[in-house]
Amino acid sequence: MEKLKYERPVIKKLITGFTNKFGSQSKNEAVTHIESVNVNELIGKYGSPLFVLSERQIRRNYQNATRIFRTRYPKVQFAWSYKTNYLNAVCRVFHQEGSWAEVVSGFEYDKAIANGVPGNKIIFNGPDKKDEELIRAARNNSLIHIDHFDELYTLIKLSDEYQLKPLVAIRVNMDTGIYPKWDRFGFNFENGQAWNAITRILNSENLNLVGLHCHIGTFMLTTSAYAIAANKLCELAWSLKVKHNKTIQYLDLGGGFPSTNTLKGSYLPGTDTVPSIDQFADAITDVILNYGFKQEDLPLLILETGRALIDDAGYLLGTVLANKRLSDGRRATILDFGVNSLFTSFWYEHKVSPAQESGQHTEETILYGPLCMNIDVIRENITLPLLQKGDRLVVHKVGAYNMTQWMQFITLRPNVVMIDKDNNTHVIRNAETREYIESAELIPPHLTNA
Ligand SMILES: *Cc1c(COP(=O)(O)O)cnc(C)c1O
Repeated sequence: MEKLKYERPVIKKLITGFTNKFGSQSKNEAVTHIESVNVNELIGKYGSPLFVLSERQIRRNYQNATRIFRTRYPKVQFAWSYKTNYLNAVCRVFHQEGSWAEVVSGFEYDKAIANGVPGNKIIFNGPDKKDEELIRAARNNSLIHIDHFDELYTLIKLSDEYQLKPLVAIRVNMDTGIYPKWDRFGFNFENGQAWNAITRILNSENLNLVGLHCHIGTFMLTTSAYAIAANKLCELAWSLKVKHNKTIQYLDLGGGFPSTNTLKGSYLPGTDTVPSIDQFADAITDVILNYGFKQEDLPLLILETGRALIDDAGYLLGTVLANKRLSDGRRATILDFGVNSLFTSFWYEHKVSPAQESGQHTEETILYGPLCMNIDVIRENITLPLLQKGDRLVVHKVGAYNMTQWMQFITLRPNVVMIDKDNNTHVIRNAETREYIESAELIPPHLTNA
């Protein structure tokens, strides 16, 4: 056999944007409108950067999730996770749709009351509940989810002192096959701590155990973890029935469903990889329905879904401040919003769209924020058309955790507007001013005429 002729291998630069061995070019289609409202007009009227929320999308998400669960299980209740986005207008949309409130601090508890949520529709979670807050929650018949033994003993003492009959559940942590385990909140299932807490509550004079709660993680990508969690909560509820003839009123499976954002370092986009709410609902309800409870004893199923109900209803609009070349030749684009506004850029590779038509050419770009701080990187590497100073862009799926975790650092937080179902735009949080920020500051007398 004749030896094949040696041919020197060639290295060919792959031009991004055109079809290559990784597939066809990724489109950078201009997003000129949010709902039917023009992006340039929004920025013209409300400034840049600007957070925009679609009320229509929030309602769509809520109705979709409740339909999915209610068609699989007879008794379902959602409770809006305040810390995910506690702008009052947002909370009120959820409450109008029928959602209860899920809060994790006295501050959030007060917000829920001020938003008109009846006390008995507020779930009070978290490790930090002050004595006065526990007393208030107990008097309002709120659902107090006990996090640790010290809180349990405090509640027993307060109930005695103030003649309270608090409605309580315990938060249970457990091995769901997801590591590292979330075992810092609540009572552990496997080592018997959860059952010990339950028996102490049953033996207390005043506490009324009405539910069992878990919140096993956030941005969960495996539905089987929920099946395991549901199974373990059912096991506790079953033991309560068998050993104490006590019927538990509800199982609260917490939050944690992912949005369709793409986690940093993922090979495939979130839209292609995250399980749907249907799959989570199947995993949870299959377990509870088949556990063996009598029909009339089936517990209410509570869900505290946050992120998955709001992320895709939020947008951040911004403007290009400048382009520059780094010393290694890479293109860098500086935007007028940074990690101070877009906290979730620490975890996500957000979809970013230009807000105007741009040419066919694209280039890999680093997106920097405007802060004078090295960590202010919105994206290490993204393929975008050649945006110019003054061009606008739209960041997608920013509704969850940005409008609560944003930082007032170096600069002020921008306007937040909501587009209602008739495409009317409402400011739901004013851009901050220096006066607003400084209104909480005091100057000691010896510095007043410095
Ligand atoms: C944060 C939180 C939620 C919401 O979590 P998501 O991952 O946003 O769905 C629900 N319950 C509790 C107790 C929480 O702390």
